Amino acid sequence: MEHQNTLAYAQELDNKDELRSFRDKFHIPQHNGKDMVYFTGNSLGLQPKTTESYIQQELNDWKKHGVEGHFLAKNPWFSYHEILTEQAAAIVGGLPSEVVMMNQLTVNLHLLMVSFYRPTKQRYKILCEAKAFPSDQYAVQSQAQFHGHSADDAIVEVEPREGEYAIRSEDILAAIEKHKDELALVMFSGVNYFTGQVFDMKTITREAHKHGIVVGFDLAHAAGNIKLNLHDWGVDFAAWCSYKYLNSGPGSVAGAFVHERHHHNFDLPIFAGWWGSDKKTRFLMGKTFDPIAGAERWQLSNAPILSMAAHKAALDVFTEAGFDKLTAKSEALLSYLDFIVSEINLTQPNDKKFEPLTPKEDSVYIPKGIQPGCQFSIIAHGRGKELFNALVEQGVVPDWREPNVIRLAPVPLYNSFEDLYRFGEILRDLL
Ligand SMILES: *Cc1c(COP(=O)(O)O)cnc(C)c1O
Repeated sequence: MEHQNTLAYAQELDNKDELRSFRDKFHIPQHNGKDMVYFTGNSLGLQPKTTESYIQQELNDWKKHGVEGHFLAKNPWFSYHEILTEQAAAIVGGLPSEVVMMNQLTVNLHLLMVSFYRPTKQRYKILCEAKAFPSDQYAVQSQAQFHGHSADDAIVEVEPREGEYAIRSEDILAAIEKHKDELALVMFSGVNYFTGQVFDMKTITREAHKHGIVVGFDLAHAAGNIKLNLHDWGVDFAAWCSYKYLNSGPGSVAGAFVHERHHHNFDLPIFAGWWGSDKKTRFLMGKTFDPIAGAERWQLSNAPILSMAAHKAALDVFTEAGFDKLTAKSEALLSYLDFIVSEINLTQPNDKKFEPLTPKEDSVYIPKGIQPGCQFSIIAHGRGKELFNALVEQGVVPDWREPNVIRLAPVPLYNSFEDLYRFGEILRDLL
């Protein structure tokens, strides 16, 4: 279909959108009495209107029962995390026994690397994407150092080629092949936070496994954004946060995945806590750690119920929408945004055109059949942060990364085609 740069056309797309009613399930921040054009669902997802009542339920049970709420609350706190598991597992394509919601993302990366980064004298290196999210870089550096290696020596980064922004799929596979005898771990993101590039997790995992290399993914920008199949892909472990595409509130509880094949390997080293020990004997307060055979073994502490309640509210909205509809709308939004940006470019001189840096499907960066996700990063050539500031003043909320990259994430649950049209209008007026 040929897109049109008109309000009527954008509204027509909204009218045909099967997920249209979901926007009303969220609080959209306001600017001068109008809905903001919110494009930062990849940093902090918006609040579902049901979140308050889910949290209120737990506050009421706490008021009413005190400590007895662990067993007497409507959703007993002792096992609260279990009511999240099935839906969380569906989001990452894992079996329920492979998934647990716990802690924070970086904490989970560390806990999982304690078990799955097991360097030997010959094999101690970690393969990562260049310019990974800083927290991930610090985590892998400090893990290498913890085992007595220098980060410079132990960490191998795959970089984009000269003059390119995204990493070619073949270059990742070539790096695995080149370093196959030295690598202990491949630790990549599922979707790069900056470029929005989706990595071919299935192929990376398969190729690394051929050489006995363990594979883990940080799914911060992938969970709730693209379809994942961690179990079938054979990924060893993964972690993600719930406050980006999963709309569960600032700093909310994170997720962890451990593949079934590791569940009965009780020789894995682990940093243990009482919540990872068998539920039947946990309150006997004994001396011996009795590991749970599943992802729950990696739990340390009793659960943060209030943030889990927010996560449950968000998961229920997600489940109601269904992933297939979300991914279809995500592709449609991206296609329209791409068009809107190209329309703006028609009005700009050559040295001031906006250049998309997020790679497209069926390219050297993203193989055919892998859905690109909903982030769209563009380089604002010849412009500075004043452009971003002016957008914010007009009620548009993108994300700005120095020196001149604008990240836009139209989220299928609550962004509309009209949002994209309005963004285009506002941007053109500013220029
Ligand atoms: C958002 C994000 C983080 C943030 O880590 P927290 O532990 O949740 O503060 C880490 N890694 C990646 C790749 C991210 O996108």
